[in-house]
Amino acid sequence: MKKQIPAIKGTKDILPREARIWQGVEAVVKRACELYGYREIRTPVFEATELFEKGTGETSDIVIKEMYTFKDKGGRSLTLRPEYTPSVVRAIIDHRLNLKPDPLRFYFMGPMFRYDKPQKGRYRQFHQLDVEVFAEQDPAVDAELVEMADYLLQELKVADTETLVNSVGCKKCRPSYIKELRSKAKQEKDTLCEDCKRKVLTNPLRIFDCKVETCQAIAKSFPKITDYLCPECEEHFGQFCGYLEFFGLEYRIEPRLVRGIDYYTKTTFEIVSSRLGAQDTILGGGRYDDMMKEFGGPDICGIGFAMGLERLLSVVPRAEQKEQFLYLAYLGDEAKKAGMALTQFLRREGVECLMEYREKSLKSQMSRANKLEASWVLIVGEDEVKKGKYQLKNMATGQQEERTQEEILAVIRKAS
Ligand SMILES: [Zn+2]
Ligand SMILES: [Zn+2]
Repeated sequence: MKKQIPAIKGTKDILPREARIWQGVEAVVKRACELYGYREIRTPVFEATELFEKGTGETSDIVIKEMYTFKDKGGRSLTLRPEYTPSVVRAIIDHRLNLKPDPLRFYFMGPMFRYDKPQKGRYRQFHQLDVEVFAEQDPAVDAELVEMADYLLQELKVADTETLVNSVGCKKCRPSYIKELRSKAKQEKDTLCEDCKRKVLTNPLRIFDCKVETCQAIAKSFPKITDYLCPECEEHFGQFCGYLEFFGLEYRIEPRLVRGIDYYTKTTFEIVSSRLGAQDTILGGGRYDDMMKEFGGPDICGIGFAMGLERLLSVVPRAEQKEQFLYLAYLGDEAKKAGMALTQFLRREGVECLMEYREKSLKSQMSRANKLEASWVLIVGEDEVKKGKYQLKNMATGQQEERTQEEILAVIRKAS
């Protein structure tokens, strides 16, 4: 026996029946993005390692523990993208997109890669929707983005969601907050987990991200960043909340929503669902007004969100949608050719057809059609070929009628 080669741990095949569900969700997502003026952008799966080191911050967990980094044959260090924003920012700079008339509104869906501990619902190759808008300072766009995310989830019938918002301030006001936070965290150092003990020195904001219960409890007693905002950030946050109300969106201010990376500024938000249990975030995003500059690009601000598609799929209710398709059953060589011509004709008219070439008897072909839950069966034998009329069976009603090619098309069109 030859040795079988299994899939890599932490990866997952999306088989056809599931892929259909993905396609349905992706279509809704695409349409929502396009409705709001976003256009798709596709960048390479791998980039220079520095891009992500810079993009996610060298102290972040993603960079420290989870990047798929390798040397290519030319000796360059490359990384499979662990997140999308740095790639978009790089593409804008590379192509000087900010000098072109098109709006800087982008969306993307595709695989990301993180060397994470494999666990239920978490994969090392996972998929994300990423939505970004650049060069819009007005908090109205922040609110519009949240409203779009909300609309998108409504379209997908995702229930029991809650919108959480916060502001992380800016370069002017955050340092004094971090100073306060660090001194408070220092007092609690002994009760924090090992990871968080390190964060006290490197980046105390990241303590808020810790999943350990005791750390979360301690973090609740920490000072709130919204009490430290400068007038500009405070006004921006106030207006953002005002626009959310204008859109009729309910939200809650959540102090733990901080981003521990320097170029994150002002707005952060998350939409959570109680249906997800402990890992309750469906999507998260925020503003990063200083990112483009950090990457050597023009001084333009940005805001966006990312949504894990596996997680989204787990809360999208599955509609029992039956595929409409015709199964062509034939008997004999003449009928086979006539069947091939018929399916060619019907497919070109937009009718999904299936004709299989391995089942010989009519009976076994009928039983295949049944098993596959075909909507129609078209039976073609030698007699039918002579007459130019074929037996069309409606599988739902059991009704069977003799029809010409044109009539078959008309009947199917009328029914669908
Ligand atoms: Zn500020
Ligand atoms: Zn911790």
